[in-house]
Amino acid sequence: MDRRRFFATAGTAAGTLLHMKKSEAANAKEGKEFVGVLVDTTRCIGCRACEVACSVAWNNFVPDVKNDNALDHRRDTSDKQYTVVNRFKTEKGDVFVKRQCMHCWQAACVAMCLVNAMYKTKEGPVTWNGEKCLGCRFCMVACPFDIPKAEYLSWNPRIMKCHMCYERLQEGKKPACVEACPADALMFGQKRELMEIARHRVYSHPDKYVHQIYGEQEAGGTGWLYLSAVPFDQIGFRTDLGTTPYPEYTKQFLVSVPLVLFGVPALLLGLSELSDRKNEVRESEGWTETGADE
Ligand code: SF4
Ligand code: SF4
Ligand code: SF4
Repeated sequence: MDRRRFFATAGTAAGTLLHMKKSEAANAKEGKEFVGVLVDTTRCIGCRACEVACSVAWNNFVPDVKNDNALDHRRDTSDKQYTVVNRFKTEKGDVFVKRQCMHCWQAACVAMCLVNAMYKTKEGPVTWNGEKCLGCRFCMVACPFDIPKAEYLSWNPRIMKCHMCYERLQEGKKPACVEACPADALMFGQKRELMEIARHRVYSHPDKYVHQIYGEQEAGGTGWLYLSAVPFDQIGFRTDLGTTPYPEYTKQFLVSVPLVLFGVPALLLGLSELSDRKNEVRESEGWTETGADE
């Protein structure tokens, strides 16, 4: 890396947090809002049409939903599938939960990407630009939801994750998974509208929903919001994230990057702390690299 590129990269790291705050402020000023998706897990029937639609839309592995018995074990998103549906046995019966990138308002993956390959669009989706990506995988370590996955078997690995069908949104379409859901379990829209609908459902049916909208506050707020009939820790969600945006945790060592010549020690320290924290939680939840049995 030449001197000019080095300083450009270092400057990018230090400016990322500022940029994210500015883009939110600019959106608010223009009356624009980030978009997102409301997932009502009480409506999901576990058909996995969303998985198929996503894979068809983005040329990924298309699961054989009739024969693969995938609901019998817990799965994680992978470098082959941006989204998966898991089944949880709960006191209120089987609950099906779709999982994908949460499109955090202030995304840790974006904050950790030194070259803006992972970036938050002004509309809200967090997307990835392969032409800029260095392959450092900091985004993978930083994500509190363990979403970005690298193509380990490729000679030129891509970072794979849901991008909220950003290209489709620009064509005026809904995300492919939302369009495919036959049960009205997924709703696309602006966050304010989705929050109003979610609150209305929770307040109108207190016996049907727990009094929480997952994603309203978690990790500073996310683009995907969830409703549930049972406490979220019973259906695979992390409930230890707090309300602080994750980039706040990395800020200290991100701003130190220019001071310590590309900041490798500081970055590694920060990454190690994040990684340790995530591993502790994953172990306590029973997740493994290949998923965990219920
Ligand atoms: S869920 Fe992870 S990958 Fe998705 S925006 Fe948040 S930090 Fe980034
Ligand atoms: S691997 Fe992730 S953090 Fe590293 S450059 Fe690529 S998108 Fe950015
Ligand atoms: S929003 Fe698009 S990329 Fe994301 S899970 Fe749905 S279909 Fe897949």
